[in-house]
Amino acid sequence: MDDTLSNKIAAGEVVERPASIVKELVENAIDADSTVIEIALEEAGLLKIRVTDNGKGMSEQDAVRAFERHATSKISNEHDLFRIRTLGFRGEALASIASVSKIDLWTSDGESTGTEVHIDGGQLVKHEKAAFRKGTDMTVSQLFFNTPARLKYMKTIQTELGHTIGLVNRLALSHPNIAFKLTHHSQTLLQTTGSGDQLRVISDIYGMAVARKMVPFKGENADYAIHGFVTLPEMTRASRNYMTTIVNGRWIQSHAINRVILDAFHTFLPIGRFPIAVINIDGDPFLTDVNVHPSKQQIRMSKESELLTLIQETIQQAVRGKVTIPGAVKKE
Ligand code: ADP
Ligand code: MG
Repeated sequence: MDDTLSNKIAAGEVVERPASIVKELVENAIDADSTVIEIALEEAGLLKIRVTDNGKGMSEQDAVRAFERHATSKISNEHDLFRIRTLGFRGEALASIASVSKIDLWTSDGESTGTEVHIDGGQLVKHEKAAFRKGTDMTVSQLFFNTPARLKYMKTIQTELGHTIGLVNRLALSHPNIAFKLTHHSQTLLQTTGSGDQLRVISDIYGMAVARKMVPFKGENADYAIHGFVTLPEMTRASRNYMTTIVNGRWIQSHAINRVILDAFHTFLPIGRFPIAVINIDGDPFLTDVNVHPSKQQIRMSKESELLTLIQETIQQAVRGKVTIPGAVKKE
């Protein structure tokens, strides 16, 4: 089996929809220590996804190697695999993405001139020196142009855009110190300041009214420290999508954690309503195994039941006395 084909197969796993590509590109920008990241979409990303960063960039050699399979610069031995601090580490995202799209890359590590690389369906078409400031500017266009079956699965522009907005919101929440900007056909959908203040990001995303109503919470046990913000039952949403869990700076999805956040409210939440919540969990990376699925969105955690108890009790404590039963009239 040739490389192009195996990359295309691997792409099926990592590159599900435009949002999955945005995730990989933005995570690379974050791993490169960027402080400003701009994401510009056309046709919800199906036509074009452009991610620009001011990170450490790539040398000429790395810029070409980045599209080879297993070309990660982030892991060098097995020990690293259990102490992952970067968001990427498999070194297959770019190879996969390149196999089902067209890529235009400009990058510079600030040491030498800079490089441009152009790839078409996984084939290198052009690679040469080009003047560029330190950082990276990568455009992925004509997504799935050579895999029409996949293209057929794409939902409406609105649905695909919704997935990407949800994703960028969560990346921004996980990285309050990075200034994010998301645009669609030059309309700004999200802009954060990079001030480092998570509550400010919550306000940028969900609005000032929500941010003002947020109740902070904080707690720790022997292994984990948690902190975050949650709304009271008087300000809920009709979907679980407004609950965000961040473990060691990585946004993850955990049904178990969502469950205990809800449990903390006991029966005070109206049926089918969910709080807006952001929960940060920090612990030794050794306790969290992110190497479960290529999307790295699900993780395995040691001492999980103790952690769940900690979350439930901490939130319960924070909202205690503040919870009023919706619709109930206060006695004078
Ligand atoms: P991984 O992130 O798992 O290492 P990727 O396929 O996503 O693998 O990227 C391959 C390599 O390309 C990275 O390890 C990194 O060295 C380089 N790279 C990709 N994007 C950027 C970026 N925006 N800035 C600097 N380096 C990058
Ligand atoms: Mg990556």
